[in-house]
Amino acid sequence: QAKGNGRGRAIRFIPAMAERAHSRHRIEQALRLALQKHDITLMYQPQRHIQSGHLVGVEALARWFDPQLGQVSPALFVEVAEETGLIHELGLQVLQQACQYLADWKVDMTLSVNISPVQLGNPAIVAQIHDTLMQYDVPPHRLELEITENVLLGDSQGALEKLQQLRDMGVKIALDDFGTGYSSLAYLRRFPFDKIKIDRSFVREIVNEPSARTIVGAIIDMARALDMDVVAEGVENTESLHILRELGCDIAQGFHIFPPMTAQEFSRTLVRPVLSRTDRNS
Ligand code: C2E
Ligand code: MG
Ligand code: MG
Ligand code: MG
Repeated sequence: QAKGNGRGRAIRFIPAMAERAHSRHRIEQALRLALQKHDITLMYQPQRHIQSGHLVGVEALARWFDPQLGQVSPALFVEVAEETGLIHELGLQVLQQACQYLADWKVDMTLSVNISPVQLGNPAIVAQIHDTLMQYDVPPHRLELEITENVLLGDSQGALEKLQQLRDMGVKIALDDFGTGYSSLAYLRRFPFDKIKIDRSFVREIVNEPSARTIVGAIIDMARALDMDVVAEGVENTESLHILRELGCDIAQGFHIFPPMTAQEFSRTLVRPVLSRTDRNS
């Protein structure tokens, strides 16, 4: 079939693993270039306080469009960045963009930025975040860092100390994707997070699965007892929003509330909140 087509054949017969390594290497090279050119952009996804209906926060999500590779998913390029050390530069650029945007804002909202556990391995990370906040004249309490549970897997003592220093500075700390790690509960004892974000794999099931509803309810009650706010991730329909309201969840984030949007779209949304999807649908 591929006879006489050397190029096509060469690609077709690369074993899967080599092919993956090859494409990872391509992604790494392209990402390095993208960081040099400051091509990584941010999308913003609002978070709505369920009882009041107010938008109380927004999560910055990295986006990368490469001319050859197309739109590369953050899950993939963040992983490659972690493996290659590029995460430190990526994280800094994300933070700088987020602070730039915060500095331009007139509204009182928290901006959440995801940070990789690998970034917490950088001895200079706390100073870097401090300096960036100063540089853009952003009050620390406007910034929230979202970390996943595996942050505590490696050098957990070092990571916890850095998180504590950031918290002492006034920065908020949220535990992302709660419930997906292997010892989620243990982490709650080890650090006073400001917020817990319930992973969307639980939120997705609350409409159809009573057990998922029970678990989410228990997480909400526990968070309240620990004086932490709760965000439900991946709220995709009115039914789940209603259930979350009944369960006493504080904040909702997801396609049903708002999808991630550009800075421009987000600013327009803030000016005309009446056009939100939730308002139209319920
Ligand atoms: P995350 O922090 O849990 O972010 C939420 C993800 O869920 C985002 O995916 C968002 O687009 C998606 N999402 C939002 N609402 C819904 C919904 O209703 N349904 C569904 N199915 N999905 C929804 P995204 O943007 O592809 O990011 C994936 C992950 O990549 C993030 O998960 C985060 O862990 C990581 N990431 C993204 N940006 C950054 C960054 O700047 N730095 C670092 N270190 N990681 C990042
Ligand atoms: Mg997040
Ligand atoms: Mg999450
Ligand atoms: Mg995630």
